[in-house]
Amino acid sequence: MQPPTSLPHLADVATLERQYGARNYAPLPVVLTRGEGVYVWDDRGRKYLDMMSAYSAVSHGHSHPRLLSALIEQAQRLAIVSRAFHTESLGAFLKRACELTGMHIALPMNTGAEAVETALKAARKWSYLAKGIAAGQSEIIACEGNFHGRTMGAVSLSTEPQYRHGFGPFVPGIRTVPFGDAEALRRTINANTAAFIVEPMQGEAGIRIPPAGYLARCAEICREHRVLLIADEVQTGLGRTGKLLACQHENVVPDGLILGKALGGGLLPVSLFLARREVMSVFSPGDHGSTFGGNPLAAAVGLTALDTLFDENLIERSAELGAYLLQELRSIESPLIREVRGKGLWCGVDFDPSRVRAKEIALALLSTGILTKETHDTVIRFAPPLVVTREQLDWALARFREVLASAEAMWRINSGAFNDGPSASPRTPAGRSGTSSPASGFSEERTCASSAMDDLHDEATP
Ligand code: PMP
Repeated sequence: MQPPTSLPHLADVATLERQYGARNYAPLPVVLTRGEGVYVWDDRGRKYLDMMSAYSAVSHGHSHPRLLSALIEQAQRLAIVSRAFHTESLGAFLKRACELTGMHIALPMNTGAEAVETALKAARKWSYLAKGIAAGQSEIIACEGNFHGRTMGAVSLSTEPQYRHGFGPFVPGIRTVPFGDAEALRRTINANTAAFIVEPMQGEAGIRIPPAGYLARCAEICREHRVLLIADEVQTGLGRTGKLLACQHENVVPDGLILGKALGGGLLPVSLFLARREVMSVFSPGDHGSTFGGNPLAAAVGLTALDTLFDENLIERSAELGAYLLQELRSIESPLIREVRGKGLWCGVDFDPSRVRAKEIALALLSTGILTKETHDTVIRFAPPLVVTREQLDWALARFREVLASAEAMWRINSGAFNDGPSASPRTPAGRSGTSSPASGFSEERTCASSAMDDLHDEATP
């Protein structure tokens, strides 16, 4: 499909973004203009299989027809009125979310970070009102390597230097423990501990899966010490790991639950903090809120997103196809790979940084028609929309194997580990043949992106 000729070239788009946009992201050199199901298209009409799903926000696939209808139907009637008034679908949305997750009460927000803030505020207030902690003494325990968002509260929980640098002073009353170590949690709990906030599996840290039994043991410890267990399932939730909630892999029902991303059906930011009645009853009108949280559009889309997960068996698909994807990724023998981790349609391939940069792999995959992005310099994530088919996964796996083979050859040549060399010396991982570089004219990413793309183009040109 040819794009309209009026569309700006990648270089122009990038320049505009650079000139007028804050530099808080470093996007890959591609301009996306359309999405449908598991695919997105760029400004030149090139098609990509989306293996990122907007950090798991697009679990239902791009522009899911049923979700689009719900959005449009609601938008045509009533979109935003604020929570100063009752609206038609909010109650039904919150009821469905509570019933599905085993929680009693839900508080709607927009982004994941806002729902995290809500959880922190609820935990603190609960600790004063219900647990009797002395004023100003309440503490929260979080895990090393966590990612709970970018607000002050969330970065105060973080142990990642880049997320914190220059943003202090931080919210006080926070302690951190190693992820996966339940005994460390037990040792760190004291009389002032209100809550333990944890991602059942860490996403942004590079798809880190804790030892079996970890979450169940944490739940026991929290119960023994009357500490709230708050599960941040913004990324792991709603089928991503092959269960509705990642907590369910260990039969854990937390005291508080944070949902976001996929709850908005890939169309809107919709988040919830859900909890037991005792926890949520600390809020009175005026204590906390959000102009947009729980708006009619969000409620209509959120409710339909939850229903669609079940009506289309997306959770079962994630479990089944995820197991297949993990098995296939693990069967790849490559000296570049240190580890393959995952659960459901949520896999991370961890590369040896002395042999290849994950970003080079992401760029090479881009040129073969696969969208993904590195996390923490060494990990490439594969998290397609849950509507992906086995054939589409096979296609992506075949491209990934090609990219790896090429990257391995390049590493062998560059490291001198491979003296004879193949006849056509690949200096970068292989990409889509016969296509021109999406990076051409894109100055900022030149060292990485365009050298990779240009080399590919050279090799493909007779
Ligand atoms: N919690 C977790 C576990 C996340 O992965 C994220 C986003 N990656 C957030 C919170 C923050 O969500 P948002 O970007 O919507 O604020």
